[in-house]
Amino acid sequence: VSRALHVVLVHYPVLDAAKAIVTTAITNLDIHDIARSARTFGCGSYFLVHPIEAQRALVARILTHWQEGSSGRRIPARKDALALVRAVPTLEDVYNELGGRDAIEVWVTSAQVARPPISFAEGRVRLEGAGPPVLLVFGTGWGLAPEVIAAADAALEPISGAGAPYKHLSVRAACAIALDRLRGDR
Ligand code: SAM
Repeated sequence: VSRALHVVLVHYPVLDAAKAIVTTAITNLDIHDIARSARTFGCGSYFLVHPIEAQRALVARILTHWQEGSSGRRIPARKDALALVRAVPTLEDVYNELGGRDAIEVWVTSAQVARPPISFAEGRVRLEGAGPPVLLVFGTGWGLAPEVIAAADAALEPISGAGAPYKHLSVRAACAIALDRLRGDR
């Protein structure tokens, strides 16, 4: 047995290049790509957090098109991935959907070390066996706002390679790599 794992992509509060708190726009590719990774690695759900109703309505239209529309008929496999997708206004809504903040563990990700991190190896071990569901939090823009990082139960180490200083992965790439390190078949 292993613990339930959920993914959330946060569009507010996140940072811009000047480290101000901003709201980013939802990117169509993020919906599809991260849903496919979430499905591949057995995640229970994939939440998109956006405070603006029109943006959540955009997600709903994309989901309808791919569940019941022509694209759903053309690529049925995508339906399975997109079935995991939920758009909600705030991170608190995600916590409540998962049983409440105290019923889950929240793990954040970043390309920078914003607090003493746990390694992916440690995360992988924590996910095995019994325990509360884990919510894996990814940001957009220039990363998650400091209050999100501070409020989490753990921060995963930045994904890096070959000792190279460059770590600015797309959130789609970062999510796929993180899920493979945490839950990929070995
Ligand atoms: N420099 C940004 C940051 O602080 O992560 C990366 C911007 S990227 C569009 C946004 C998200 O991708 C980050 O919030 C994080 O979730 C993820 N991400 C990007 N690079 C990462 C890395 N090297 N390790 C872990 N997560 C990463």
